[in-house]
Amino acid sequence: MKIAVLPGDGIGPEITSAAVKVLQALGLKLELESAPVGGAAYEAAGHPLPESTLNLARAADAILFGAVGDWKYDTLDRPLRPEQAILGLRKHLGLFANFRPAICYEQLTAASSLKPELVAGLDILIIRELTGDIYFGQPRGRRQAPDGHFPGAEEAFDTMRYTRPEVERIARVAFEAARQRSRRVTSVDKANVLETFQLWKDVVTEVHKDYPDVELSHMYVDNAAMQLVKAPKAFDVIVTGNMFGDILSDEASMLTGSIGMLPSASLNDKKQGLYEPSHGSAPDIAGKGVANPLATILSAAMMLRFSLGQPEAADRIEAAVRKVLAQGLRTPDIWSEGTTRVGTREMGEAVVRALD
Ligand code: NAD
Repeated sequence: MKIAVLPGDGIGPEITSAAVKVLQALGLKLELESAPVGGAAYEAAGHPLPESTLNLARAADAILFGAVGDWKYDTLDRPLRPEQAILGLRKHLGLFANFRPAICYEQLTAASSLKPELVAGLDILIIRELTGDIYFGQPRGRRQAPDGHFPGAEEAFDTMRYTRPEVERIARVAFEAARQRSRRVTSVDKANVLETFQLWKDVVTEVHKDYPDVELSHMYVDNAAMQLVKAPKAFDVIVTGNMFGDILSDEASMLTGSIGMLPSASLNDKKQGLYEPSHGSAPDIAGKGVANPLATILSAAMMLRFSLGQPEAADRIEAAVRKVLAQGLRTPDIWSEGTTRVGTREMGEAVVRALD
């Protein structure tokens, strides 16, 4: 099992180092190799995703990714900016399925902006299609409006589009994932207004015939946004397109109270995946040893489950995270009165100790 470790910038090296120690403590045969990415790679090789890093990622079964970016790179030409590395990896590896679980740990319910009874025990999974939709549809651009309310005025336009195979493959990913959970999928669309999402709904409904053991419901995106703050626990797996998923997954992540706790996975059709925390490189706290490593450690657990076929090892890591939270250990972002403040390294070491 080959893992490419790409720590990146800011807090990236600190949090990936903690996650690597957890992986190494599992007693599995893992081959880990590191390479620079993002700003660190720009400094070392003049490009945020050098050929050598891309080749390492291509050859790996999974990629453990820290975070990239720093304000000091904001003036670089766009193709040289650190964030281009993630887009490049998604494109080159065909990572079309983005998994964003939103889990509210019992000990952290007070950190949510919703009432504790609405989020206690929350465990939902948002699956976002990552390579299609209005973000990539052509044509797009700016021009003089050929018609409409203001003919001749400056206008900008994008194209929302999905092909049947694109919807089929993400629907299958969602139904398969639901089989590992409570067997319920909500497909979120805007079929009442958009042709693209009428096709989406039709295709999801057809694919569902192959998964009769999974319950499927459809919901319009405006209603889904409302239900996520009204009764989030009513959901199990949500599957949706690139733009709706972008917005809803951020909304859902906030229900859990802390960005430092949220893992994510982006998979291709060979189950090869990129695993990273949902947050960025946090340059404001980089190098201070205070970043929360749990999102990255939980991303490593997702990697074991989805790309490396080691669900028991994933369970062990997730149980260890629950245990250190129950012990009252907290990095500053999740600290509250009566709990014990620890740094990045101590939190990682506590998870290692809690593994058994
Ligand atoms: P951010 O997620 O890096 O930080 C937002 C806030 O959350 C900051 O106050 C930060 O200190 C805090 N935070 C984030 N992760 C934390 C952790 N693990 N523990 C404790 N606190 C944490 O977002 P930002 O400040 O908007 O962006 C900073 C840089 O990260 C930018 O260059 C941006 O482009 C980049 N970015 C990268 C990714 C990625 O690598 N996937 C994602 C988002 C942003």
